Amino acid sequence: MAARVCLVHYHEVGLKGKNRAHFEHILMDNIKAALAAFSVNAVSRISGYILVTFNEHQADEAARVIRTVPGVARVSLAYHTNRDPQEYCAAAVKALREFGSFDSFKVHAKRSNTDYELTSIDINRQVGEVLCEAFPDKKVQMHDPDAMVHVLVVQGSVYVYARSERGVGGLPVGSAGKVVTLLSSGIDSPVATWMLARRGAVCVPVHFSGRPQTPDTSEYLVQDIIRALEPGVQIGRLYVVPFGDCQREISVTCPSNLRVIMYRRIMYSVAERIAHIEGAKAIVTGESLGQVASQTLENIMAVNEAVKIPVFRPLIGSDKQEIIARAEEIGTFDISTEAAPDCCTLFMPRRPETHAKLDAVHEAWELFDHEEMIERLLKQTEYIDFESNTYKAPKTLKRKHSELAPREIYQDHE
Ligand code: ATP
Ligand code: MG
Repeated sequence: MAARVCLVHYHEVGLKGKNRAHFEHILMDNIKAALAAFSVNAVSRISGYILVTFNEHQADEAARVIRTVPGVARVSLAYHTNRDPQEYCAAAVKALREFGSFDSFKVHAKRSNTDYELTSIDINRQVGEVLCEAFPDKKVQMHDPDAMVHVLVVQGSVYVYARSERGVGGLPVGSAGKVVTLLSSGIDSPVATWMLARRGAVCVPVHFSGRPQTPDTSEYLVQDIIRALEPGVQIGRLYVVPFGDCQREISVTCPSNLRVIMYRRIMYSVAERIAHIEGAKAIVTGESLGQVASQTLENIMAVNEAVKIPVFRPLIGSDKQEIIARAEEIGTFDISTEAAPDCCTLFMPRRPETHAKLDAVHEAWELFDHEEMIERLLKQTEYIDFESNTYKAPKTLKRKHSELAPREIYQDHE
């Protein structure tokens, strides 16, 4: 019987010219890592595709996982047969049968090597005839058919498929360097993090918790968010900064309308320092223009100028509904809507400034020893490690281990 395999298609990876092999290898490694729970026989390259074979009947379930791996444009559930026409024609019948509802179809054959005596046109005709017999009430249609039966001849093998589903696209994680992402347990920043991962960046999230002024619920939610992105997107390390006491200090020394801006300048500054330690080249936030009072252009500028590193805001032009749809798709929405006090809800002023004036911001910034506070927060920063094939821990951190006391790995909570 024909074996069931996954054929992975990648667009953008293929566009990378000389780097192509490098990108393909990263993608193959990431697919392997995402399929750790499956009994995979091999992940290999064949003629512009990545082929995943299994020891058990797991291709259907695995295809669902592979679709979530950045860099994957499509996944086709294929039958692998030898070059015996009886075999691949029978596979074509099965492939079309499981396609779902359709009225018209077409066969599309492709040979990656020409030592097979039949041309693609011959194969189209041969398989087409068998399908016409098996599906007498369906019509063959050359232009825009409902179903397409692909027959791919590669060396001694033939791969036949009709079912093919879209993947998340983008580039494989690990092909675009490292970024630090400001990850709250809200709806937006998990989506922003995922978007950078989809563009190939290794994401290193930093979460500011209200601890010890609030319970640590948000820290657990953030870990749940990281787990929800798995196995397609794997995050290797989460930094947690207990921010509550510093927020309290800021709230007693600075004008209340500027508190949020001061919190954020500190958050960005700490994130910049972590980025430096990690060798990350940008900070990512989930801000969306005008979504809340603090996300006006003036406020964004008043916060942004506290750091030199580029700050990316992939959601800046997105509507909340679009962000929610994406959060649902990537599986973080339900976690993000669980209520948790975090540093955002702590010491919130009644009337936060919506159009901060830079002079006033600079004045408030000098009202407390911000440099000392950033240093102190860095010393109190904890990290939690997760399984990831793309994250490499910074060497400098290993040497200065005492600077960042590791916290016990969180395993389960109610
Ligand atoms: P989100 O849904 O991502 O929390 P939001 O709409 O609640 O966003 P804000 O609370 O203004 O917006 O936060 C803007 C951005 O600042 C967030 O998207 C996130 O990147 C960052 N941020 C906010 N709170 C935290 C936090 N506690 N820890 C880390 N980053 C945070
Ligand atoms: Mg928030």
